[in-house]
Amino acid sequence: MNKVRVRYAPSPTGHLHIGGARTALFNYLFAKHHNGDFIVRIEDTDIERNIAGGEQEQLDGLAWLQMIPDESPINPNPECGPYRQMEALDIYNKVVAELLEKGHAYKCFCTSDELATEKERQEALGYAPKYNRKCSELTAQEVAEKEAAGTPFVVRVKVPENVVYEFEDMIRGDVSFESKDVGDWVIIKSNGIPTYNFAVVVDDYRMKISHVFRGEEHLSNTPKQLMIYQMMEWDAPIFGHMTLIVNEARKKLSKRDESIMQFVSQYKEEGYLPEAMFNFLSLLGWSPVGEEEVFSHDTLVEIFDENRLSKSPSMFDKNKLIWVNNTYVKATSLENVIALAKPFLLEAYDCSNRSDEWIEKVIALYHDQMSYGKEIVELTSLFFKEDFTLDEAGQEVMAWETTPVVASAFKQKLSEVEEWSVENIKAAFKATQKETGIKGKPLFMGLRVAITAQEHGPDLMSTIEVLGKDVVINRL
Ligand code: GLU
Repeated sequence: MNKVRVRYAPSPTGHLHIGGARTALFNYLFAKHHNGDFIVRIEDTDIERNIAGGEQEQLDGLAWLQMIPDESPINPNPECGPYRQMEALDIYNKVVAELLEKGHAYKCFCTSDELATEKERQEALGYAPKYNRKCSELTAQEVAEKEAAGTPFVVRVKVPENVVYEFEDMIRGDVSFESKDVGDWVIIKSNGIPTYNFAVVVDDYRMKISHVFRGEEHLSNTPKQLMIYQMMEWDAPIFGHMTLIVNEARKKLSKRDESIMQFVSQYKEEGYLPEAMFNFLSLLGWSPVGEEEVFSHDTLVEIFDENRLSKSPSMFDKNKLIWVNNTYVKATSLENVIALAKPFLLEAYDCSNRSDEWIEKVIALYHDQMSYGKEIVELTSLFFKEDFTLDEAGQEVMAWETTPVVASAFKQKLSEVEEWSVENIKAAFKATQKETGIKGKPLFMGLRVAITAQEHGPDLMSTIEVLGKDVVINRL
């Protein structure tokens, strides 16, 4: 195989979307697995949709996920640039001139009103509307006159008749489209800017792209692109169209879907670990051999196999997201967890009379339970709030006849503790058990709910120690 060169080609229209990040990731893994290049190209020809900072957003999102491009607008390879389409207009124009020259393309002066009337006419006859090729008949002289008169025009490709465009998609296998289903499409708009389907071919060719992994919404664009490759007698890259990402209701993930955080920056802001997100995204439409699903960046590069990209839609499973992230949090050092979680606590609660040591102890209690930094706020509420509402199960525990008995005995024992330590709290707990004759769940759960208003949580003795004597006695 020639050197593998793949590209991620976003439009700079906003934040890095989960779907875009996944496209980038499979291109990246494929490139790195085959010792190839991962390139970022900015497709900015839809100028109305571009936003200031959109390119930076994309690059920042990739950098956070540890996907550093070998080539991009900020580290271009001089032989393959420009890396922003709007800087390559001259290059497209040369190709257009060649297509016009060879008779593969023509200028079309039809107005939008004319096009709309023709479309209606065809639809009324029950046809799938296509451009009627009126301007392909114009003589050189007619074209020259219209141009001299300043009539606006687009350039259209003259779609060959009765050609079947076939290709072997790396994910879907054999795919074919017939040229008769494609009308003469526009390659250059009246403002002189190329359309996506045209620019992408010129770019993939000039950047020596060997493989293209992209979303399945582009599958129907591929025959148009293959047409240009054939007309220019260029070798086309190998294509692979990845499946959709769907939500838990099996609906296509749309940017308006509020049940899922859609942008990589949101995960960063909420304190997710980038290596966990990289791992999670790799499982959206790809599966490793075997049961194991947690892999480091380098291992994923090593084991990535494009033949295991899925043909069926991949579900964005929020439980898996939480599980993968929690696995990484558990495995990372306490120091990292503190760095990740502490800013969220300081922002959410008034910690002005709390020591750093105490805040860090609170975080440490949740090292195994936490999935992302911001979650610490909710997890630790029992340390910062006094207005508890018990859920139904909690109310039930509080209604057990043993609960007031153990609470009052434990309160008494704790008030006698002089040196507030986990050992001494444990001793008070044992003494409570002995004195009341109550043990097991009625003892343990009764005290946990009475003190924390929760049925689950970190080790109770350590929780009591960190809460402090006054708070615990007061709650009991
Ligand atoms: N700019 C296109 C997109 O964001 C790229 C499609 C392609 O990879 O060819 O969907």
